[in-house]
Amino acid sequence: MRASSPACRLCGSRELSLIKPANYDGPLASGSFAVTDSAYGVTAAVYRCGDCGFLQCPELEDVLGFYEGLRDEAYEAGRRPRSLQCRRILRIIRRHHASGRLLDIGAGTGSLVEQALAMGYRAEGVEPSRWMQARAVERGLPVRRGTLPHPVCRGPYGVVTLIDVIEHVSDPLGLLRAAHAALEDEGVLAVATPDVGSLAARLMGWRWWHFRLAHIGYFDRRTLDLATARAGFQPLARHRPGWFFSADYLLERALKLLAPSIRVRSPGVLRRLSVPVNLGDSLLGIYRKTRA
Ligand SMILES: [Zn+2]
Repeated sequence: MRASSPACRLCGSRELSLIKPANYDGPLASGSFAVTDSAYGVTAAVYRCGDCGFLQCPELEDVLGFYEGLRDEAYEAGRRPRSLQCRRILRIIRRHHASGRLLDIGAGTGSLVEQALAMGYRAEGVEPSRWMQARAVERGLPVRRGTLPHPVCRGPYGVVTLIDVIEHVSDPLGLLRAAHAALEDEGVLAVATPDVGSLAARLMGWRWWHFRLAHIGYFDRRTLDLATARAGFQPLARHRPGWFFSADYLLERALKLLAPSIRVRSPGVLRRLSVPVNLGDSLLGIYRKTRA
């Protein structure tokens, strides 16, 4: 908890009002931040900025240490569907910047780096989790431990990607500025993040599946444009990316939502099936670096 009143992480305003109290059982640990966490609706205290409208959890400040210690076996099990969605995102990026150096921030176990290399980019990644970065290295992928700014991954890059990362960080503007510094002039930034202004989010309210402890910033089109503009980027295109999930993962999540007491062992064939899902509740913004 902070003693003084917190400032908005996008615009610096002190006009933050509490719109949802925290509902997690402490204390926090690395496992609370697992990508595959299914405690939907469990969050830290959420505040809305009265000036720019950004939804944020200012009481969670120093979360990087949790990510450094994060292990997530279930995440690696979803590699096949994740690779499909990385390819989809890269095909969109390719329309704006088709080759050259690419840096994936929050690279996880290296799925996007792997796919980008296969598409001809000179790709590398940074990842704070020791466990995830080691899994990437085991596969021979150039993923280094850490985040930006990074002593080795300094660019200049033609493309920087932030795929489902910016909602996890306590200083999104600082991260966008670090991405800006790592890009060449006219370089391309791709940011994917859940859209709190989407129809699905509004219909589901606080039960929306992206309301979870690991997410401490909730963007919509307007606040994402505001953040990127403040960091020196100009929008090029906007997409609604879909995701792929394995069929057994979807079955397990659906049962958890509809009939939490039932335990079912799903047939192995479902694990090998990747199902496209697009609820229209994610944003993929493509931006160009506009000024040094
Ligand atoms: Zn604000």
